[in-house]
Amino acid sequence: MKNILILGAGTAGTLMANKLRKKLNRKEWNITIVDEDKTHYYQPGFLFIPFGIYDEKDVIKPKSKFIPKGVDLIISKIEKIIPTENRVTLQDSKIDLKYDYLIIATGTRIAPEETPGLQGDLWYKDIFDFYTVEGAVALGERIKSFNGGRIIVNITELPFKCPVAPLEFVFLADTYFKKRGIRDKVDITLVTPLPGAFTKPIATKMLSGLMVEKNINLITDYNISEVDNAGKRILDYAGKAVDFDILVTVPTNKGADMIERSGMGDDLNFVPTDKHTLQAIGYENIFVLGDAANLPTSKAGSVAHFAGDFLEANLLSLINGTPMTAKFDGHANCYIVTSDKKGTLIDFNYDTEPLPGRYPYFIGPFGLLKNTRLNYFGKLFFKWMYWNLLIKGHDLPVTSHMSMCCKEVPKETK
Ligand SMILES: Cc1cc2nc3c(=O)[nH]c(=O)nc-3n(C[C@H](O)[C@H](O)[C@H](O)COP(=O)(O)OP(=O)(O)OC[C@H]3O[C@@H](n4cnc5c(N)ncnc54)[C@H](O)[C@@H]3O)c2cc1C
Repeated sequence: MKNILILGAGTAGTLMANKLRKKLNRKEWNITIVDEDKTHYYQPGFLFIPFGIYDEKDVIKPKSKFIPKGVDLIISKIEKIIPTENRVTLQDSKIDLKYDYLIIATGTRIAPEETPGLQGDLWYKDIFDFYTVEGAVALGERIKSFNGGRIIVNITELPFKCPVAPLEFVFLADTYFKKRGIRDKVDITLVTPLPGAFTKPIATKMLSGLMVEKNINLITDYNISEVDNAGKRILDYAGKAVDFDILVTVPTNKGADMIERSGMGDDLNFVPTDKHTLQAIGYENIFVLGDAANLPTSKAGSVAHFAGDFLEANLLSLINGTPMTAKFDGHANCYIVTSDKKGTLIDFNYDTEPLPGRYPYFIGPFGLLKNTRLNYFGKLFFKWMYWNLLIKGHDLPVTSHMSMCCKEVPKETK
């Protein structure tokens, strides 16, 4: 028997376990997946919790429900990978796991401890994240009793998962306080290390236009150095202060500590990965899927989903002794809610920035960089797709590579 070992049973690991179990003969291949947490989180849903649109029940299910028959699920903290011996050690168990092929899918975690003062006296009193279910729930409680003042949403540093989530947060906050009739008493500001509201010019223009329309402030090129809890302000490296009543932070995102212990990561514990084959650089029998990889595209569930098809094809080629020809193009696709009724959509890859148009194919019905009701429902419907299709490894009616079909290329970039 040969062994495929998957580390991490989040979005990427779970969908890969499902895909590979369908493709590999059970008499020849064992598949094992390890995770320290019994709970599967639908992370895109965390955004909606502070505003009462979703609650915890919408985003939490047992991991075991999504692991197919014929795959062994081990619940344990992973200690480290010993690639020279094709072996992984677990923290809570004497068992060592041997592998022929390894897939690293241990994602990214928030590391608020990296910013002095962030987890100080005000943590979960006036300072919150919404990248964990605990943070999102605590923030929801706080904003319910908030009757006016300054809310700042601060991105600590790049890269971070779902780069559109802070924008969605400020848009939903605008709607939420309008509904409560106190929008004129609430000052909402996005404070970002980026030079604009988003990374790419065409999307940035559209999204910053919406921010202006909604009277949301933007502070750019801001690299936070510390939080002054007593003064209720953040400071950057040049000493520039921004005052807050509530600070919503997107803390530093880091890969799993296990990657550092294994000596396989960069300075933020992301695994250097070939951007086309998805192999860990320097290791022929190790692949990386999802947020754990250092790919130059978004850290997003959609990327894990699209890249999964290329990883599957390359791994099967390697197993069969044929050349790996599948080349991942960095395809990412994200709905962006802009209120509790409308949303927009972006679709891009390593080489093509988000462009206006329609998605998918000729039929649409979703508008790329258009602000529509249908896009909002697309985002809500995605939860059903996630639990029922995506992590179960089923095919979705979209291509894994990015298509130029129905995209409007601006004249100056043609
Ligand atoms: C607020 C928010 C909004 C988002 N919105 C969107 C969106 O609209 N669209 C989109 O595409 N994406 C979105 N995302 C991003 C998306 O959720 C992630 O990119 C995706 O879940 C990444 O999958 P992954 O498998 O790489 O990591 P994860 O799903 O995080 O899984 C990693 C797993 O590894 C396990 N693990 C880590 N270290 C160890 C260890 N040492 N031992 C054992 N187990 C370990 C963890 O327990 C976890 O289960 C959003 C994320 C957030 C936080």
